[in-house]
Amino acid sequence: MAATPLLTPRAAHAPTLGLIGGGQLAKMLAQSALQFGCEIVLLERAAGTPAAQLARTTLLGDWDDPARLLELGARVEVTTLENEFVDAGALAAMEAAGHAVWPRAATMRVVQDKLLQKEALAAAGLPLPRFRAVGEPAEVNRVAAEFGWPLVLKKRRNGYDGKGNATVRSPAEVPAAWAQLGGGNDTLYVEEFCPFAAELAIMIVRGRTGETVAYPLVETTQHNHICHVVEAPANVPSALAERAAGIARRAVAAVEMVGAMGVEMFLTKAGEVLVNELAPRVHNSGHYTIEACVCSQFENHVRAVLGWPLGSPALLAPAAVMINLLGAAAGPGTPHGLAAALAVPGAHPHIYGKAQSQPGRKMGHLTALGQDLTEARATARRAADQIRFGDSITPTP
Ligand code: ADP
Repeated sequence: MAATPLLTPRAAHAPTLGLIGGGQLAKMLAQSALQFGCEIVLLERAAGTPAAQLARTTLLGDWDDPARLLELGARVEVTTLENEFVDAGALAAMEAAGHAVWPRAATMRVVQDKLLQKEALAAAGLPLPRFRAVGEPAEVNRVAAEFGWPLVLKKRRNGYDGKGNATVRSPAEVPAAWAQLGGGNDTLYVEEFCPFAAELAIMIVRGRTGETVAYPLVETTQHNHICHVVEAPANVPSALAERAAGIARRAVAAVEMVGAMGVEMFLTKAGEVLVNELAPRVHNSGHYTIEACVCSQFENHVRAVLGWPLGSPALLAPAAVMINLLGAAAGPGTPHGLAAALAVPGAHPHIYGKAQSQPGRKMGHLTALGQDLTEARATARRAADQIRFGDSITPTP
């Protein structure tokens, strides 16, 4: 007897795309996939996430539950991820069952563990801040004797927005940092502190057969480890931008990424480019590509994982600035001042549709293009200043 098909056949069937995670990155990926007639199935822990309204179905469950992942795999043609926290072993179980998952479990196993990631990049000969595995607090002091203070103690897995990092300036600060990050059982590693002149990032999209496109190099500004502003292109000499793009392409190839990958880098005062970390997914530093590039990072990620030709990453304007719209306080996720922001010509707000604002939570972003960075910055700032999340400020009419 023939098995009952899990999918209702559709005429002129475009692939159904499975997304693990349903946040703003999944929402923007879904918007691009819908453009091509795809359907979306999400796997998320909760209903009502930003991407849910664009999905045909949301499977509720844990990302690391192999049974849930297998159920997702059975309902879609291709599965991809919006974050690096899905256990690589669970992804390998999907692959073993014959499901197409991009990026591959082998890529995620290396990239989701920052120590393994750094070892892979070092083995490929890429420039990095010096780093070392540490199994106990006393080892941090021994590394400091070699690298000097301060050091950055980092969680190997599951860090984001600086939540897995602590800067330690002396032996006295080590125990508290160790405890704060839950040290032990090979969970931490240590890096030399890099007194960078600027933070740079670049999005690379790599297709299934290894072809890549590189977006422009951008400069990112972080406060409290959270990205606030992205400026494209970075205001650096073109030779430096080319060098950074070359490093980023080699980094992406070293981990055999398929899909969009964010490569975060430090520019040192001596003009050296060091890789900080890889994000194996679409990335905040590439949100500007929606309005500013021929083909956005989201569209190119969808093209890559579905095995379709990649689109051009070229800029459509000389400059673009993206500002993250962060929650000002706890409260509802709908913003004040959206109409006032839309009244600023050339401003493109994106509201993620999260139910709740929290201080510092990424609730949306806004991009403006310009003839130069000064113009794009001024437009983006004027519009972003109109929008508030989670407080009771009365919007300007
Ligand atoms: P996350 O995964 O939480 O984004 P990162 O490792 O990218 O963590 O660190 C977040 C921010 O912390 C970086 O953007 C940078 O500003 C700072 N940082 C991280 N590592 C170093 C370092 N080795 N030296 C100096 N600053 C660092």
